[in-house]
Amino acid sequence: MLEITKLGHPVLRAKAEPIREIDAALRRFAADMLEAMYEHEGCGLAANQVGVARRIIVIDTRGAKNRPSVLRLGGKSLPVHKHMPMVLVNPELEFGPERESGDEACLSIPGIHGDVDRARVVRLRALDLDGAAVEFEAEGLLSRALQHEVDHLDGILFIDRLDAEERKRVADELHAMAR
Ligand SMILES: [Zn+2]
Repeated sequence: MLEITKLGHPVLRAKAEPIREIDAALRRFAADMLEAMYEHEGCGLAANQVGVARRIIVIDTRGAKNRPSVLRLGGKSLPVHKHMPMVLVNPELEFGPERESGDEACLSIPGIHGDVDRARVVRLRALDLDGAAVEFEAEGLLSRALQHEVDHLDGILFIDRLDAEERKRVADELHAMAR
């Protein structure tokens, strides 16, 4: 089982490297990432969170029953559950203009959660584990999870995006963890 890296580990602040070769080793690594995500009941995981600064994320939002996800391709909504779990290699996001606030937590920062302002809609481009191009639009929890995980690949954590009030609320807990 891969171990989850926690706040304070430098790999969480590293900018992950693009993946140049999609091979059997990467597919095994993706399967291990999924196993770790399910074990810790997360809905997303970035490679940095298991100590590897490479651009791959896994996502499965099906466990969050009260937080719907929307997946759209060419303007048409697709059944989200049929496309889970997602393994996305070298993911890139385009952000829609509207914003939305929502609660977030992170397996690398246990015990902390807070409201984060993010784009309501994103368009994702990535490769799948066969090296095929993937492109879709997301709303709801899927949009939020994609933004949270792609942030990890750039060394950004959700606590960096808390507003002043939220940051104040969690400051004590963060200091305790930093020690
Ligand atoms: Zn996270």
